[in-house]
Amino acid sequence: MCGIVAYIGAKDAYPIIIKGLKRLEYRGYDSAGIALNSHGTLNIYKKQGKVSSLEEEAEGKDVSGSMGMGHTRWATHGVPNDVNAHPQTSNSGDLVVVHNGIIENYAALKEELIQRGYTFSSDTDTEVLVNLIEDVQKKEQVKLGKAVQIALTQVVGAYAIVVFDHKKP
Ligand code: GLU
Repeated sequence: MCGIVAYIGAKDAYPIIIKGLKRLEYRGYDSAGIALNSHGTLNIYKKQGKVSSLEEEAEGKDVSGSMGMGHTRWATHGVPNDVNAHPQTSNSGDLVVVHNGIIENYAALKEELIQRGYTFSSDTDTEVLVNLIEDVQKKEQVKLGKAVQIALTQVVGAYAIVVFDHKKP
């Protein structure tokens, strides 16, 4: 079962999120990832395997920022690898998401999005969801919260998500 940890506040997000992910390790997972937003700069690190492998991946890199999200993945759509690990981003690169659960109608939604010009780099249902939110935001010209609400009316499944727009933190 996957785990989600997110933080926004005055402290450095990275150690708080890593600590939270480690507390969720007992649930079982196959890969881990983290997204950090620091004054409009987005850094994402993802790794198949343990949270400790993610820490090795991020070692020596920019882990600054007081806002971020982390995820331990239990793969349901796409094999466990670095690309399919969360967070996933939208085509514009602005929207970032972590997701627990399954989007049952992801194949039909993906097909529609492909016809509208979207491309996908992972095999996850999660990348479909984040692009669906982006598509709604563009079409309806609404804020992120509203776009999430509208997008979820089109989604069949059981899920928990964290999403942010790194350009509008
Ligand atoms: N369905 C998503 C995936 O396969 C999320 C799985 C999970 O809950 O960790 O990437």
